[in-house]
Amino acid sequence: MITEEQALARILENVGSLPARRVPLIDAREQFAAANVLARVALPRFDNSAMDGYAVVAASCADGKPQRLIGEQPAGMDRGLRIKAGEAIRVFTGAPIPAGADAVVMQEDVRAESAEIFVNMKVESGEFIRRRGCDLSEGQKIVEAGTRLRSQTLALLASQGFAEVDVGGEVRAAIVSTGDELVAPGDKLGPGQIFDSNSVLLQGLVGKCGATVGDVRHCPDDAYSIESALREGIDFDVLIILGGVSVGARDLVKPSLNAIGAQTDLWRVAVKPGKPFLFGRAGQCAIFGLPGNPVSAFVTFLLFVRPAILRLMGARDEELPLPRTSAILASEVNNDGDRPHYVRGQLSQGKFSAIGRQESHALYGLSRANALLRVPPGETFPSGDTVPVIPID
Ligand code: AMP
Ligand code: MG
Repeated sequence: MITEEQALARILENVGSLPARRVPLIDAREQFAAANVLARVALPRFDNSAMDGYAVVAASCADGKPQRLIGEQPAGMDRGLRIKAGEAIRVFTGAPIPAGADAVVMQEDVRAESAEIFVNMKVESGEFIRRRGCDLSEGQKIVEAGTRLRSQTLALLASQGFAEVDVGGEVRAAIVSTGDELVAPGDKLGPGQIFDSNSVLLQGLVGKCGATVGDVRHCPDDAYSIESALREGIDFDVLIILGGVSVGARDLVKPSLNAIGAQTDLWRVAVKPGKPFLFGRAGQCAIFGLPGNPVSAFVTFLLFVRPAILRLMGARDEELPLPRTSAILASEVNNDGDRPHYVRGQLSQGKFSAIGRQESHALYGLSRANALLRVPPGETFPSGDTVPVIPID
């Protein structure tokens, strides 16, 4: 059986980034930049006031002398005003600084009489002036190719006057759940049946990556239905098959992939939960077979499918793994098995505690977890140890 690292490496060897596209800024949220972007507008764009107050010459306010009020400079226009020592101009937040002024005094620190102001405190040169380019210079790199476009980054692009941005290709996924026992939520359960929860889980996880779910369907465990669903599924960039990848007589995914001419690149990975995981290809479609147990589907999605989707979306290597953080173990965790175990737990205030049942069917436990802890085979992590955990939200 191959290791997680080998499995991920083999998957990533076989998926490349889709061609880039240009989209309106708001549609680029959580997508990946397809190219570097350079600033074309300095921030701030011009020297401007950080306060409602008075633009002055700092040195001439020193001895409490009145400053003659000679005009007003609102935000949103530039009146091209100019002052000399002993003069002041009323300014508002964001207004251009009049020529000759080197400070703004807050209106709260000023006593204004009709044509004069009296400054009640010491004024430093440069005070309350936001200098052109102090935050960002023209030509500076503001977006790196392959990085995630967060709302803050999109706001920065907007500040540069960009209405659109080039992002990686739209990744479209199909989801096929398999199993005679499964009933769609909302339908009626018969004896021995359960609701299909994985289809919802996977739609959520795929959407959270920033990819699009183009088709969701369910098949009973019969070769004909599965093969026809797979034939349609391979028209997508990604096909995720749920259940039926194990070794039972009703596990028909592998032979069905074979029957439709798809290639299986790997099957079974040394990871718990999730051993029966499968990766294959058909033309341009990356095919993932996830075990039907909900926690297995969840863990193998995060370990293997998410990085592949992100790669297709144009993410650079650094973006592919889930970020880790350090936590202190609230109580001992051990793994006496022969595969790395992803323990589900609660990460709160820097402490990690395993939560709920740790078997692969235990969906309630998973629903309360917000982090995973990878425990290598044969390892015991004592209580109080500092361990790397993977936040999953
Ligand atoms: P399988 O991988 O098909 O052998 O399924 C393993 C276990 O996961 C069985 O107990 C199935 O009933 C359960 N299971 C399979 N698919 C789903 C699903 N879509 N939703 C919830 N449970 C599932
Ligand atoms: Mg099944």
